[in-house]
Amino acid sequence: MRLVIKVGTSTLTHASGRIDIRHVESLCKTVSDLKNAGHEPIIVSSGAIAMGVAKLGLASRPKDMPSKQAAAAVGQCELMYRYDKLFGEYNHSVAQVLVTAEDIKNSARQAHFQNTVFKLIELGVIPVINENDTVSTAEISVGDNDTLAAIVAVGINADMLVLLSDIDGLYTSDPHRDAAAERIARVDEIDDRIYAIAGGVGSSRGTGGMATKIKAAEICTRGGIDMIIADGSSPDVLYNIADGESVGTLFVGKKTK
Ligand code: GLU
Repeated sequence: MRLVIKVGTSTLTHASGRIDIRHVESLCKTVSDLKNAGHEPIIVSSGAIAMGVAKLGLASRPKDMPSKQAAAAVGQCELMYRYDKLFGEYNHSVAQVLVTAEDIKNSARQAHFQNTVFKLIELGVIPVINENDTVSTAEISVGDNDTLAAIVAVGINADMLVLLSDIDGLYTSDPHRDAAAERIARVDEIDDRIYAIAGGVGSSRGTGGMATKIKAAEICTRGGIDMIIADGSSPDVLYNIADGESVGTLFVGKKTK
């Protein structure tokens, strides 16, 4: 199974911005094992800005663009260092792939991106993709990695996109506030009701909330790809997903054939 796995900032880091060792170690172990089993994992990873903020000792996430970009430049190194080290323990190599919205819109650049990712997969490497935050300014950025992961999943013909999040799926209402909230296991049609539900639910420290996840689901399902929102605090769920079990919320891709 060619599996794009998107990990959000709130899964990768603590509220302090420092790395969440338990989550990241367990993610790398599980993804390595899936690769050993013959799957083709591709990671879309956030966390660069948060890790940069922590490493630079800034009091909080900066608001201005140059500071955010500087933090991303510092944090991206830290992020890749961690992935390289942890995947290396299981004898897997990683590759850093940074893209901008321009690389996606421009068909020649998109083709180069796809060819590189296909070659990395062929070489047995695990691509780790993030937006190139140091050069993406607000006007031209993809903006959030949920959307980026969906575009990547469609572009490289993945079987599935898994969004590992700080919430284990889409609920009928906000589960933090409403005890009667129920997890929706399967969505066949993304309609106004789904958007209305998603509008009220935020996730904390990443860029995206539930709304960007639904937008990502639209991109995936339109492209014929299934997407799952699952709990990032237990990357073990990736085993269940690979086994075809029902986990989190599944958005069913529109198969044309
Ligand atoms: N590219 C950003 C980062 O690495 C994250 C964007 C997002 O969380 O959606 O910090």
